[in-house]
Amino acid sequence: MVIFKKIKDLQVYISLQNTAKSAVGFIPTLGALHAGHLSLVEKAGAEGMLTVCSIFLNPTQFNDKKDLEKYPVSTDDDIELLVKAGCDVLFLPDVSEIYPNGTDGEATYDFGYLDTILEGANRPGHFKGVGQVVSRLLEIVKPDNLYIGQKDYQQCMVITKLAKMIGMEEMKIVICPTLRESDGLAMSSRNRRLTETQRAIAGVIYQCLVSIESKQQTASFAIVRKECEDLLAAKGLKPEYIALADARDLTPLEDYNKDIPMVTLIAAKVGEIRLIDNLLLQ
Ligand code: AMP
Repeated sequence: MVIFKKIKDLQVYISLQNTAKSAVGFIPTLGALHAGHLSLVEKAGAEGMLTVCSIFLNPTQFNDKKDLEKYPVSTDDDIELLVKAGCDVLFLPDVSEIYPNGTDGEATYDFGYLDTILEGANRPGHFKGVGQVVSRLLEIVKPDNLYIGQKDYQQCMVITKLAKMIGMEEMKIVICPTLRESDGLAMSSRNRRLTETQRAIAGVIYQCLVSIESKQQTASFAIVRKECEDLLAAKGLKPEYIALADARDLTPLEDYNKDIPMVTLIAAKVGEIRLIDNLLLQ
């Protein structure tokens, strides 16, 4: 694996790759890598891409500065994991490389309705920052394929919209399934911050998603949501939202509607640590 810190060097290297692997598969990350991230790299590799992963802890997408300060950083371990996963290129820029004119000087994108619900409503400014960094990284890497995780369901929609807004609709967006721990907890860099006790209860978020799915024939969503709220509270978690939505555009649903694809989404705090997860209803 080759590592670049500078845009120019990365771009020269990519342009010289006239091998069978000349199509570029890009995996942007914040670092503190786990098997979920690596599954995206492996998927891109299995599809014959020149795999380019970026690790950039983007300050502009953190509405909560404490969350940014405490975000885990483990670059040496990340590099080792990427080598094992067969990653070809790592882009490891610093903040001034991505935002040479400062973080305020960047173009902003209006995601409309998508920015007003769920993560958008609970993390003001978050998707503005995601739009800034992803547009910048796409402009630098110019990938043929972009690999992102369903774990961040709303972010997948924001990025799909962004790709159209910046004229990159030719780029294929590959949405990869969520990797989970054995108790169902979605893998996340933030899980590293959980204490042993918090980690032992965090799997309840996935249990709630599964119960929302499994009770769709037998109860109203309002009742199941209340059960989940009570279950999360009983374990000491603080739910921010427990939602059911149209999986195509995230329009909120009051109740189950088997005629349309549905997704259920939860954000909850375990102590100070905010976790999100979702499940497409079968
Ligand atoms: P992050 O570093 O959290 O920005 O994540 C980088 C990419 O990895 C995003 O596209 C995420 O959706 C994806 N990702 C994060 N966690 C998982 C997971 N548990 N399974 C699959 N993909 C994930």
